[in-house]
Amino acid sequence: MAQASKNSRTGSTTHRFECPCGGEVKMKTVFAKGKAKNVAECTQCKRTERKPKDFK
Ligand SMILES: [Zn+2]
Repeated sequence: MAQASKNSRTGSTTHRFECPCGGEVKMKTVFAKGKAKNVAECTQCKRTERKPKDFK
């Protein structure tokens, strides 16, 4: 059957961002002023940026 190959990659990370320190950047949700917002945080040096792209 052709079904096997259709969604075989589901579950793997599509995009991975890395901090200049070599750590992995992950999205997390923080609450500020009653609102939830997503920030990108490096798991190693704890640097946070508004978007994963901002890690350069
Ligand atoms: Zn870092």
